[in-house]
Amino acid sequence: MAGLTLKNINKSYANGFHAVKNLDLDIKDKEFVILVGPSGCGKSTSLRMIAGLEEISDGELYIDDKLVNDIEPKDRDIAMVFQNYALYPHMTVFDNMAFGLKLRKMSKDDIKEKVTEAAKILNIEDLLNRKPKELSGGQRQRVALGRAIVREPKVFLMDEPLSNLDAKLRVQMRSELSKLHKRLQTTFIYVTHDQTEAMTMGTRIVVMKDGIVQQVADPQTIYASPANIFVAGFMGSPQMNFIDCKIVEKEGQVLAVFANNQIVLPSIKANLLKSKGYIGKDVVLGIRPNNIYSTSEAPFSYEGSVLNAKIDVKELLGAETNLYLKINEIDLTCIVKPNLALQVGDTIDITLDMNKCHIFDKATEKVVL
Ligand code: ATP
Repeated sequence: MAGLTLKNINKSYANGFHAVKNLDLDIKDKEFVILVGPSGCGKSTSLRMIAGLEEISDGELYIDDKLVNDIEPKDRDIAMVFQNYALYPHMTVFDNMAFGLKLRKMSKDDIKEKVTEAAKILNIEDLLNRKPKELSGGQRQRVALGRAIVREPKVFLMDEPLSNLDAKLRVQMRSELSKLHKRLQTTFIYVTHDQTEAMTMGTRIVVMKDGIVQQVADPQTIYASPANIFVAGFMGSPQMNFIDCKIVEKEGQVLAVFANNQIVLPSIKANLLKSKGYIGKDVVLGIRPNNIYSTSEAPFSYEGSVLNAKIDVKELLGAETNLYLKINEIDLTCIVKPNLALQVGDTIDITLDMNKCHIFDKATEKVVL
């Protein structure tokens, strides 16, 4: 068992900078939790506090119900894998992996057994006699993982472990890490700024901004029901579209009005906006690019959300095409089928799937519906 509880954790650095604010988090045994957010949001600081590499300024950290604030990193039963791998250059792969076990005075036979087993899991059995400089980036990454695995820690902490790999290898290592997590049945806490890594690997995602947790949920919930504009914009690629609108009631309909355009809201959303007192208020309408259709391709017809837009940029991706559109000065991205004979400069009718739209409060930026 290795659950973690972070209770109101804060980190202020010596220069007074408040890097992590009131972090509350319960991590269950065997979870794969991902801390994600833009550079400087405090995710590495949070991980380093869990590792014991950074002092906790305020709050309590429990591992398996034991308060560990003042416990040395080596006594926390965790293993950390760093972005730069931190391998010893003069040692072979075997010795790099065996190092921690030798320090623990484990017998030679036991060390050999553990290193060989981990090497098998990671498919690096043939590399055990090489030095780190004789390895590719992906192989070094595996060795760094192997060094953590042999210690059989209760918790694995990983700080951007894939960021030095090329795009193809990153994709491959993503699925290998997910498999490794299933195989080891151990708690993983993983830091990244890459929303795709978070969406594809995490069983739960913690989105952070400016030292504050914005939302904690499983990947599907984060994507489908973002708590605020920041989470909605950060998670998902291409990014969610945002349109500043005013909610207006006219002739029995509830409209989202912007520039010279108006969109009729479907009745469920209209009624919710009314009951929440949003008539006459400024909101931000959010809609993902895959929920905007070229009207001629739309799988449904809804005249209330047809808009005319000009194609600014066209991006051919093979299986689909991204269109970057302009409606007056407003930018919108949509994904269409690749066979569309549309050119930059053309105008096009688009239909927004308003059942899939999100409405955010303009002032608080929190989700309304
Ligand atoms: P990145 O993805 O760039 O690594 P991060 O989200 O992991 O970013 P942290 O490394 O946790 O961010 O840093 C959070 C904030 O704390 C940053 O603004 C950073 O400049 C600041 N910070 C980090 N270390 C110190 C320090 N020793 N003294 C003062 N401020 C620091």
